[in-house]
Amino acid sequence: MSAPASERPTRILVDLDAIAHNLRAIRAHVRVPVMAIVKANAYGHGLVPVARHLQAQGVEQLGVAFLEEGIALRQAGITVPILVLGGIFGPQVAQFIAHDLEVTVSSLDKLHQVEAAAQALGRKATVHLKIDTGMERIGVHSYSCGPFIAAAVASRWCTIKGIYSHLACADDPGSEMTALQVQRFAEACAHFERLGAPMPLRHLANSGGVLHFPQTHLDMVRPGIVLYGVQPDPASKRTLDLRPALSLVSQVVYFKVVKAGHPVSYGATWAPAHDTRVVTVPLGYGDGYPRALSARGEVLIRGHRHPIVGRICMDQFMVDIGQDSAWNEDEVVLIGRQGDAAIPVEAVAQAAGTIPYEILTGLNARIPRLYRGG
Ligand SMILES: *Cc1c(COP(=O)(O)O)cnc(C)c1O
Repeated sequence: MSAPASERPTRILVDLDAIAHNLRAIRAHVRVPVMAIVKANAYGHGLVPVARHLQAQGVEQLGVAFLEEGIALRQAGITVPILVLGGIFGPQVAQFIAHDLEVTVSSLDKLHQVEAAAQALGRKATVHLKIDTGMERIGVHSYSCGPFIAAAVASRWCTIKGIYSHLACADDPGSEMTALQVQRFAEACAHFERLGAPMPLRHLANSGGVLHFPQTHLDMVRPGIVLYGVQPDPASKRTLDLRPALSLVSQVVYFKVVKAGHPVSYGATWAPAHDTRVVTVPLGYGDGYPRALSARGEVLIRGHRHPIVGRICMDQFMVDIGQDSAWNEDEVVLIGRQGDAAIPVEAVAQAAGTIPYEILTGLNARIPRLYRGG
């Protein structure tokens, strides 16, 4: 498939049907409502198109990291409940209320800021209380959250919709940390019973929790990476039937023969031992394709796997195709399938010495996104 002449031949293809399939697989597995996590441009897949598709699939709730992501969704006409997961700043609270976004309240101080802003506007804020059970990121420590929960329950200006915590080690099925966090979270939730207050929605599971720890599913789950068909940890067993939704493709822009001993790219770090065919691909680290893949990454051309040689540049890199043939405009697959061959994002991450999350969220706005299905 060639891109229109006016468009970059480099593009991200997002298969919305794969996302719907993954949502169904998660639902069948957990049997509780789903808060689909679409932060960081829906893990690189495109915030608004993915959110719109998830809403059409009947997802109960969306989760984003920052206020501005929530506002972008509201401005695009998304109407399902949206929780902003990140820590809030006092002056932002009015914006949350104005855009009907649910607030993460992660300290007694912030609770008071939310109350003050809600009272000033004469409109209640919908909040989720954040408990720290071991991540030490944001949230009130589970061992001292009694007064915090009592203050929230007593608040006239906050409606407590949820209580939640975040798992630090759920991508590792063998970690004992998760059981400890489950225990601490249960102790925090018990304050509601002690106060005689109704229990809000309890949610704890990220993708690792969804896959490996049924005791974390509780009243709602918060999957991110598995929605996009990617394992949180490349080593983890494939317990759910997931379909990767994202492909990254480009086209050959240049073909040449490089003579033995003639180095390729910046720093002259690699030269062929024999005359070889080298093609140039028009994307680079300026698109978020990591420079760490220099001399480590691979691509697919004409169904064959070929190594990236020399350093990846900002906008281009080179591939040694040996004695194979390739033509200008041939499709180059960097992430995804071509014929029987595949390069999963997990493999790209491993080659780059990072995790799939960083590869996906790093693919930036310079690359056009095309959607199919849905
Ligand atoms: C990012 C995030 C998630 C989703 O994490 P995955 O590992 O992608 O499933 C869930 N909850 C919180 C609080 C998060 O920040």
